[in-house]
Amino acid sequence: MAGDRAESCSFCGKPAGQAGKLIAGPGGVGICDACVGTCGRLLEREKSRDGKPAAPAGGPAMQEAPAKAPLAPVPLVAPARLRAELDAHVIGQDHAKKVLSVAVFNHYKRLNDRLAQAGQGPAELADVELDKSNVLLIGPTGTGKTLLARSLARMLDVPFAIADATTLTEAGYVGDDVETVILRLLQAADMDVARAQRGIVFIDEIDKIGRKSDSASITRDVSGEGVQQALLKLLEGTVCNVPPAGGRKHPEQQCIRVDTADILFVCGGAFVGLDRIIARRGGAKSLGFVPPTNDRPALSAEQIIAGLQPEDLFSFGMIPEFVGRLPVISVLEPLDREALIRILTEPRNAATKQYRKLFAMSGATLEFAREALEAVADKALALGTGARGLRSVLEGVLLDAMYALPEAAPGAKYVVTAEVIRGEQPLAAAVPKKKAS
Ligand code: ADP
Repeated sequence: MAGDRAESCSFCGKPAGQAGKLIAGPGGVGICDACVGTCGRLLEREKSRDGKPAAPAGGPAMQEAPAKAPLAPVPLVAPARLRAELDAHVIGQDHAKKVLSVAVFNHYKRLNDRLAQAGQGPAELADVELDKSNVLLIGPTGTGKTLLARSLARMLDVPFAIADATTLTEAGYVGDDVETVILRLLQAADMDVARAQRGIVFIDEIDKIGRKSDSASITRDVSGEGVQQALLKLLEGTVCNVPPAGGRKHPEQQCIRVDTADILFVCGGAFVGLDRIIARRGGAKSLGFVPPTNDRPALSAEQIIAGLQPEDLFSFGMIPEFVGRLPVISVLEPLDREALIRILTEPRNAATKQYRKLFAMSGATLEFAREALEAVADKALALGTGARGLRSVLEGVLLDAMYALPEAAPGAKYVVTAEVIRGEQPLAAAVPKKKAS
């Protein structure tokens, strides 16, 4: 994407030929001189309304707010472009890539619509309000859920934060308040509230905050339904008070007020057994349901997408209102051997490329035989943690060689074979022979 030239202003749509000067940004976006002027005037107006420029990180901005609406519209990136960029980082997961690209495109369209003084589009649709398009990604661990969300945020240059739903509890109980999720985003935005308000939050393990039981009357369900209720508000958009030091809120503490209306939430969860639930409900009969075996799930990701109904998620203890706030759903495929091999070599930051770079920085070369990559994939498959296992397998195999790298002869060459991966041979350096003089 880098290197693509902007053909029109990403803000007002004026083609390059008609815009006096078009300033190009990364990924083919551009802004014309008229829009730069408008943005400048907007910023000035905001500053003079405050009577002061934006406060520095962690400073007096603490008491300020409610945080103001973001200042300028966001340049829209077409789903196909987002998708192409995701392809550079994530192997497979076509459906999730498409769904996320469209969700992000619509999310920022909605944000721009809310920013516009007059309603956008044709007159009869001018007062139609666009709903948020928060996303639910369902799939086994290590299949790329976090990677997809992180890659999108990086591409859009918006702050990104990851939270683990299992660490959250209902306010007043041991654990973190849900506002800590927003604090992470603020920290990722260097405490710039306006920037944080258009960021992306990934909440992992969302399936683990299911309501514990139908009769939660004896013990309070502080880490299940209570958290879902609290997250609900963040997901749909609220002005929340974030304790700047994290942890629990207490009454004397001054909080930062953040409006979550334009924050995109991507939730991820494994939802183990979802395929069986759909199948049991009878929703899979038409989908070619085959009895599951240890290494074959009952339904493929495609079949789950086709057969999934909100009530299937209710069986995990997800409350209907919560499911309703996640209107965009995709299911990720488990990664097979071939996908794992591709993950080792193809993505821009593929693990083998990273290790080759580390070796090259010490003046050595590192090569991987095709059979070695297959052996790494087999080991990772056996670990059952998706692509997460690849890196730990490689780290273990390369540890000794990396330890000794500073003492290795200049030009040393390491070839990783299947035997090395299986532990049948050590990884030894072949030193280039000196030319006879
Ligand atoms: P999860 O689905 O559990 O959120 P992650 O996205 O955190 O999994 O994946 C863990 C690591 O595995 C990533 O950092 C990445 O290196 C690798 N990985 C997982 N899935 C893919 C994929 N589809 N393509 C490329 N790399 C992947």
